[in-house]
Amino acid sequence: AAKATGGQLVAYGCELDERAEAAERLGADLRHSLDDGDFRVFYQPIVELRGGRIAAVEALVRWDHPVRGPVSPAAFIPVAEDNGLIVELGEWVMRTACRQFATWCHELGDRAPEYVSVNVSARQLNEPGFPDVVIGILAETGVAPNALLVEVTETALFAGQTAIEAVETLHRSGIGIALDDFGTGHSSLGLLRTVPVDVLKVDKSFVDEITTAGRRAVIVDALIHVSNGLGLRAVAEGVETAEQAAYLRDLGYPYAQGYHFGRPVPEPSFEPYVEPAVRL
Ligand code: C2E
Ligand code: CA
Ligand code: CA
Ligand code: CA
Repeated sequence: AAKATGGQLVAYGCELDERAEAAERLGADLRHSLDDGDFRVFYQPIVELRGGRIAAVEALVRWDHPVRGPVSPAAFIPVAEDNGLIVELGEWVMRTACRQFATWCHELGDRAPEYVSVNVSARQLNEPGFPDVVIGILAETGVAPNALLVEVTETALFAGQTAIEAVETLHRSGIGIALDDFGTGHSSLGLLRTVPVDVLKVDKSFVDEITTAGRRAVIVDALIHVSNGLGLRAVAEGVETAEQAAYLRDLGYPYAQGYHFGRPVPEPSFEPYVEPAVRL
């Protein structure tokens, strides 16, 4: 029995090793892909629930791995955070998104979205000089500070005082701050007292409850009151059905995002979203 246990321990140890090696390989591939330009930015519409206007877009990075093909950000962002490449990758995403936004403003005039939303990780926020990098990108691309929304998570803000100060500096410069995946952390509400926030992105898990467990939709209901009470703008994330969209609109959610309105794509259409006619 002792031998069997020993064998299991060895097997377990090897498995950990393999996982670490896989992450290391992925990390090395990230480095090459950054140099070779294998990343792209997709944009997902953020829609006004009343009227269907596309108010904004969220920039979401995509990796076209030279051998494996598309790799999900959920798989490679954590690796890039661990090895620090997220700093360079994140700066590239920010610059690409701002350039693209400037192009839309020139091409579309009044029909251009109001702002572009960009995800920023803990590692980036803790990098000294991060706010200057962002302000530099705005100057370089000609994008106004209030046309950029920086999405941060609660976890990123708990990474340290530098992160909080970075958010404060960005906010003082006129850049919008969104709390992403709102409600999934340990003290989301407490954070609203200490960090300047403009937008609450209410996590998909609460939106899902609208259709799966009527009783618990009470959370999306509570969060719109929190948002309105604090003078913030709420965006409901991960809206997949017309039923969810209607429910959120009736609760008073001003904005929503999700596959129901549009998936992330390289070139979104900025035509107002029209609810498909109900077929009887
Ligand atoms: P997130 O910031 O919460 O972004 C929303 C994610 O939900 C995106 O996944 C989006 O494609 C997906 N989504 C949107 N609507 C729906 C829906 O109706 N149903 C479902 N099932 N999913 C929906 P994606 O693009 O795979 O990104 C995953 C996460 O990776 C992001 O979550 C974000 O945390 C991170 N990420 C993506 N791009 C970047 C980036 O440029 N920088 C950083 N730091 N993180 C990024
Ligand atoms: Ca986000
Ligand atoms: Ca989110
Ligand atoms: Ca998320």
